[in-house]
Amino acid sequence: MTSYSNADLHCHSVVSDGTLEPEALAARAKANGVELWALTDHDEVGGQQRAAAAARAQGMAYLTGAEISVTFAGTTVHIVGLGFDAQDERLVQGLARTRGGRGERAQEMAEQLAKVGIPGAYEGALHYVGNPELISRTHFARYLVEAGVCKDTSEVFRKFLIEGKPGFVPHRWASLGDAVRWIRDAGGVAVIAHPARYRLSANEEFALFSEFRQHGGQGVEVVTGSHSAAEAVSYAAMAQEFGLAASRGSDFHSPDESHTDLGMLPPLPGHLTPVWDLLAERIQHPAALKG
Ligand code: AMP
Ligand code: MN
Ligand code: MN
Ligand code: MN
Repeated sequence: MTSYSNADLHCHSVVSDGTLEPEALAARAKANGVELWALTDHDEVGGQQRAAAAARAQGMAYLTGAEISVTFAGTTVHIVGLGFDAQDERLVQGLARTRGGRGERAQEMAEQLAKVGIPGAYEGALHYVGNPELISRTHFARYLVEAGVCKDTSEVFRKFLIEGKPGFVPHRWASLGDAVRWIRDAGGVAVIAHPARYRLSANEEFALFSEFRQHGGQGVEVVTGSHSAAEAVSYAAMAQEFGLAASRGSDFHSPDESHTDLGMLPPLPGHLTPVWDLLAERIQHPAALKG
């Protein structure tokens, strides 16, 4: 089994809500020392071929990826899929259904913002959208910064677009079971993304991890750009308790917005099984390293 000291298995391109093209991400990952990479756009696999080709050109190993939006216990949870067949029909259709409804949701978000004196947010957000099927809160956040309403996107996500604040529109995403099955049935491994970010009670979190396992989920992000060192320790313990493999990913979106750059993360704790150990057959090796 190949060991990778720098794997980054979570980031976004212009195909969802990142600001870089897949090729630019691959070059940046390589420059930062990444050896195994995955592009994990939200609810979308449209960038996978370009990402895999770019990884090959950079001499990096590659795993296919996507980050699926799921509704669980009334909140949004993200499930990262890795190493699946990106052409799998059920996965592709499931992702298309998950994306559907983003346009209407965005119109409603803009209506709410207009009511608090911020007109034109839909059109403004659209300027930042690379994929018309994937208008997201991030694109609205960029517009609100451009319009001078907030100084940066993290201020936007404190004052707008979140539950209880203007511009938040509840949305029903995929079910946990569907998301895990789409990934598994397409040959991949499902991973709970950045678990410390969810506002779940201890009971709900236990339910998330147990149901995820029952559905066939196999991994959890332990080291991510969204976790503090203490959170990584606590989710390392959860990985052991639930018998899950551990993943590592920056969740990089943009050089201007992301605190954690591609590959710039602490190592996975040594006692955990890295998620790529479950995916040895699915890793696309660069030509130079082939037999
Ligand atoms: P959506 O899928 O449209 O609900 O948008 C979710 C995206 O918004 C996430 O993937 C992040 O990129 C971004 N986001 C959510 N919360 C925050 C936050 N507190 N700070 C920065 N970005 C955030
Ligand atoms: Mn995002
Ligand atoms: Mn996420
Ligand atoms: Mn993400």
